[in-house]
Amino acid sequence: MYAFRSTHGPAGQSVELAFTDRYGGVSAAPFDELNLAIEGDDAEESRAENHRRVLADFAPDLAHRRSLADLRQVHGADVVVADGPVDRAPGDGIVTTRTDLVLMVRAADCVPVLLAGGTVVGAAHAGRAGVAAGVVPAVVERMRELGAAEVVAWVGPHVCGRCYEVPPAMQAEVAEREPATQATTSWGTPSLDLGAGVRAQLDRAGVEVVDVARCTLESPDLYSHRRDGRGAGRQAGLVRRAG
Ligand SMILES: [Zn+2]
Repeated sequence: MYAFRSTHGPAGQSVELAFTDRYGGVSAAPFDELNLAIEGDDAEESRAENHRRVLADFAPDLAHRRSLADLRQVHGADVVVADGPVDRAPGDGIVTTRTDLVLMVRAADCVPVLLAGGTVVGAAHAGRAGVAAGVVPAVVERMRELGAAEVVAWVGPHVCGRCYEVPPAMQAEVAEREPATQATTSWGTPSLDLGAGVRAQLDRAGVEVVDVARCTLESPDLYSHRRDGRGAGRQAGLVRRAG
């Protein structure tokens, strides 16, 4: 069910976080098994059951329908402040100070980022456009406005710079906004390293980075849109204040 799961911080003020993998759900091939996509060709009832299972496992003390705060991701830099359950609000970043909510972002090659700082937690979905637009620094800024001092960020699974080939003009466009993204594929053509871009943005924002990434395209236990196209499901990043 999880590519990574951890608890962070002192007892009584701890944060739980996880990145899912593709196992432990009910979706049929090619979406097998734990597809957490909002839409796509997979059966709606399978996706609903997958969400139920992962939330029951991740936050067994919370009633899952009223604990989820998630996004309809639009590849921008808007950050939603969750003060109660959120049902697919448009945006690519989400933050909360509450202890009864699970923040969720979804990805299949883009970079999922989970953040914790004092009594504030956050999550971001940063693809090519999101890295260029600065959604991750926007989440950090919102967390600090809500009182977070020392912020830690976990960078989750995404397509790596050795695999993510793009046309030269696209590479130049993104690298102009975030130079750290400029990379080369393992076969010597222009690429983007979105993870390096996110890490550079976090460094500049004074955030401690915990890199738990693996390459989605190279990992059969993770979904990859580049590899599987319309047959790709979505994994999720999950974070909550445990209280
Ligand atoms: Zn790779």
